[in-house]
Amino acid sequence: MSEHTPEQPTQPEAPATPPAAAEPAAAPAAQAAGGNGAILEVNDIHTYYGSIHALKGISLEVRQGEIVTLIGANGAGKSTTLRSINGLNRPRKGTIRFQGKDITGEAPHKIVGMGIAQSPEGRKLFPYMSVLENLEMGAFQRTDRAGIKEDLERVYHLFPRLNERKTQRAGTLSGGEQQMVAMGRALMARPKLLMLDEPSMGLAPIFVEKIFEIVVEINQQGTPILLVEQNALMALDVAKRGYVMETGHIALTDEAKTLAKNEQVRKAYLGET
Ligand code: ATP
Repeated sequence: MSEHTPEQPTQPEAPATPPAAAEPAAAPAAQAAGGNGAILEVNDIHTYYGSIHALKGISLEVRQGEIVTLIGANGAGKSTTLRSINGLNRPRKGTIRFQGKDITGEAPHKIVGMGIAQSPEGRKLFPYMSVLENLEMGAFQRTDRAGIKEDLERVYHLFPRLNERKTQRAGTLSGGEQQMVAMGRALMARPKLLMLDEPSMGLAPIFVEKIFEIVVEINQQGTPILLVEQNALMALDVAKRGYVMETGHIALTDEAKTLAKNEQVRKAYLGET
């Protein structure tokens, strides 16, 4: 749901971006995966808003090292898929496994503690807090001060602009800078899986390019990413695999390069006639 614009910062739904892991994650190479090498396995989930059947049997997986993208039109169910994974909308049917463990229906803070962090659609920053305070919120469950400091340096290295503006109130930043804070806050949890919901939404093209470059860099540093995007072209360009959602189900899945050449995808999502 696209309720917020970057220019209208809003108070976060506290559990919507459960930002921190209880303990820092192990090094990526040491992370456990399910039997088939997948760190995340979503199997036939059905999620509702009251009587609205929003997800009608979604299955997908993210494997170690991958960027996986979920693309599709407005209202297809992309955000609801992320909300099902992060514990905000409990699926009525189906299972979600993370590192081989069933996390279906777990509380959002527990899921964060296991290592899934999200940068939500609309950023959902704390607008009256500084950039630094917003970033620190991402580590609020952590106690390893040295690790937190290390991760702050990592975030500043990825986003030098945030270092320059660390004392500035987050609500006064541009949309692109706010997106950087939202992603940096999620990284402060040192996640084993990073979920990004529409990171390019509402941004000027120059910022879109920059954000996608950083998505790739984060992934190359060892973090698998589940990327929800309406900018299908950019998303398929950086992803290894993709899933195309249509009204609550997965219409297509393939290697991202193959999807980018698919005629149906090009017509529906890449603006070709
Ligand atoms: P967008 O790109 O617009 O965010 P999306 O693909 O992320 O779209 P969802 O936001 O997951 O789609 O919405 C999936 C379906 O669930 C839509 O039909 C939407 O109207 C419905 N929906 C989403 N949030 C709610 C809600 N809070 N209450 C009722 N229905 C909802």
